[in-house]
Amino acid sequence: MKAYNEMTRDELLSEKEALERQFAEVKAQHLKLDMSRGKPSKAQLELSNEMMDVLNGDSYFLDETGTDCRNYGIMDGIPEAKRLMGEMSEVSPDHMIIFGNSSLNIMFDTVSRSYTHGVCGSTPWCRLDKVKFLCPVPGYDRHFRITEFFGIEMINIPMTPEGPDMDLVEQYVNSDPAVKGIWCVPKYSNPQGYSYSDATVLRFARLNPAAEDFRIYWDNAYSIHHLYDEPEKQDVILEILDECEKAGHPDMVYKFISTSKVTFPGSGLAALASSKRNLEDISKFMQVQTIGHDKLNQLRHVRFFGNMANMHAHMSRHAAILRPKFEAVENALEKDLGGLGIASWTNPRGGYFISFDSMDGCAKAIVAKCAEAGVKLTPAGATYPYGKDPKDSNIRIAPSFPTLEELKKAAAVFTLSVRLVSVEKLLEA
Ligand code: PLP
Repeated sequence: MKAYNEMTRDELLSEKEALERQFAEVKAQHLKLDMSRGKPSKAQLELSNEMMDVLNGDSYFLDETGTDCRNYGIMDGIPEAKRLMGEMSEVSPDHMIIFGNSSLNIMFDTVSRSYTHGVCGSTPWCRLDKVKFLCPVPGYDRHFRITEFFGIEMINIPMTPEGPDMDLVEQYVNSDPAVKGIWCVPKYSNPQGYSYSDATVLRFARLNPAAEDFRIYWDNAYSIHHLYDEPEKQDVILEILDECEKAGHPDMVYKFISTSKVTFPGSGLAALASSKRNLEDISKFMQVQTIGHDKLNQLRHVRFFGNMANMHAHMSRHAAILRPKFEAVENALEKDLGGLGIASWTNPRGGYFISFDSMDGCAKAIVAKCAEAGVKLTPAGATYPYGKDPKDSNIRIAPSFPTLEELKKAAAVFTLSVRLVSVEKLLEA
């Protein structure tokens, strides 16, 4: 088919008429489909059901050092959980703290603690006139909501397939002492599925922050979440703590990780990896905050997986469920929108999302059109700080939750909506 921007007005009008007819037919089906949140599907959750059987009333509840996991004690995690989560994070266990059930919660607490008490003895952010965070965009809405909640000014940094625009990052971080942090999803980023190149990671490690309390918030949520089993189709990134240490900035990173999309979201293990100095700083806060996290869940995870090789095998079973879904969406996008000159999208090799860009000024209308036909998408703008996408073009597609059949239907509604809204936009011009 001819690209839309090459069509005459009459051609566009007849295309619009045909699309409107199709849309009316779809609407009459009263669909109820959801491509909005990055939740694992029921089939994926079932992969971890046996974890519920590894502990029962007759189980042995001691960890490997003899601590009774049913009781209070141990702030930073049982040693075998630190080892497993350390391996998952590519960090040695003595640089790990195991927290509760959510890495987002650790991120919130980290910002909150810095705000009220400061970072490693520096001035609490609440006493400063201005605190700024860099936000690679499009990015993860919940990161942005944390910094917005604390009144921190957020600065958009464009993402590229190699990672954030590092010229801009260096310019801000190295010259402005009000810049205290940057949100990063370095592997299979939310929403693009991009992974930072070696050059990007090295430039991060070699930053020379104007603020002594500047920290990189390295949210490695998708560290082992490949869609393909072949090693050549799996992204690998440099280990940031190690690179920061080598560059003489051992304290510059907080690395977050969780098993939310490995076992059960909301009932997994979350952990933080950082320098000894940062971990000690955080421990002081934790000792007031809690008497310890859920060690039984740590035990459950460790006994279920046994080792990292089994965790990778488990992720491959997730991939077998997710891969056809990603491919179904990508095929629909290519078949229905390829060559029309009205959209672009990413083809990730891992993670949970596809990032879609429409013509400028169309994203909100596309999301609304899909809703009209019973397909729920992440609200347009959500991938930007303050919910404001300056071009109104980005939409995050989450293929994981619906069944493959539902997803195929939802993808067809989506591409139809994109075409209809784009034709309308072009006719407006
Ligand atoms: N970080 C990123 C980048 C995510 O996409 C998500 C969930 O979608 C989370 C963190 C949430 O992780 P958790 O369940 O460990 O809080």
